[in-house]
Amino acid sequence: MAAEKSHLWTEVDYDADGKQVGYIHLPHSVTRSAYGTLAIPLTVIKNGKGPTALLMAGNHGDEYEGQVTLCKLIREIEPKDIRGRLIIMPAANMPAAMAGARVSPIDDGNLNRAFPGSPSMSVTYQIAHYLDTVVVPKAEVWFDLHSGGGSLAYVPFASVSTSGNKKLDQRSLELLRVFGSPVSLVWTYLPDSRLAHSSAHRNNVIYLGGEFGGGASVNPDGCKLTYDGTVRALAHMGILKDTKKFKIGKAPEKVRWMELLGQSYYVYAPDHGLFEPAVKLGSMVKKGQLAGLTHFVDNPGREPVPAYFKDSGLVICQRHYGRVERGDCVAHLATDRSEP
Ligand SMILES: [Zn+2]
Repeated sequence: MAAEKSHLWTEVDYDADGKQVGYIHLPHSVTRSAYGTLAIPLTVIKNGKGPTALLMAGNHGDEYEGQVTLCKLIREIEPKDIRGRLIIMPAANMPAAMAGARVSPIDDGNLNRAFPGSPSMSVTYQIAHYLDTVVVPKAEVWFDLHSGGGSLAYVPFASVSTSGNKKLDQRSLELLRVFGSPVSLVWTYLPDSRLAHSSAHRNNVIYLGGEFGGGASVNPDGCKLTYDGTVRALAHMGILKDTKKFKIGKAPEKVRWMELLGQSYYVYAPDHGLFEPAVKLGSMVKKGQLAGLTHFVDNPGREPVPAYFKDSGLVICQRHYGRVERGDCVAHLATDRSEP
């Protein structure tokens, strides 16, 4: 039986030269709109032959730095500025982006846990499937710009994840170097194979990500980093002919190379309550050190329950919200490494 095709469609012609600012339409028949579609922003800028870069944000709707940067680049980049093609999607999970939420309000779907997706499941899985089968195979490189969203805060960094394919990993690391993030991270441990990077690696596409802020706010440093880094990387790929008109800063002379190696880097809330962190975001901690205390304001005589770091390293991520349920991630670490 032939695989079921995507039901999503677009009036944008991926192969036409010029600049098209349009939409991908996902048929979504509901009471208020029987023949309606969800319109997911899609911009294609093309000028002749050359490589294709997919620039994406809004994979999680409450992660904003990439969304701001990609809107800016859509307005600024003209076909004459490039060789090849840019496919730009600033709000990939559009319903989530409009709701300012990590997951879609329509199906509770987390796009970054929905790959490879399906054309016959709910809307978020249909978006993942369209990306996986239509958009990603057109690209040589996929920028997927994240942040901590509402629940987490991050020390901003750009990252790649290892694929097991040596050649692809080398090309990914080269682009990460060119991106020029003062903190650059290699994920060798990722907890889930349904993430976007798995789609990229299956399609032999370089996947460049990063966490550029958090707390459901717009981090200006994260915006600058995503903007400057994206411009630098596109110029390195030969897609942007010149970086002059983009007024980017200098790449940092010294990069702090970090990695994330395993489950022991994560700390989880041991109970439901109010979590008081014992350390600040960005601090160095030792294995066994107190990560924080869960307090019980509904039962104030009860002693707070401690959570400890299971490894040493930099607190690169911390929970932003105070209230926790048992099992919520309250922090994770990264450790220093040599330049890969
Ligand atoms: Zn994210």
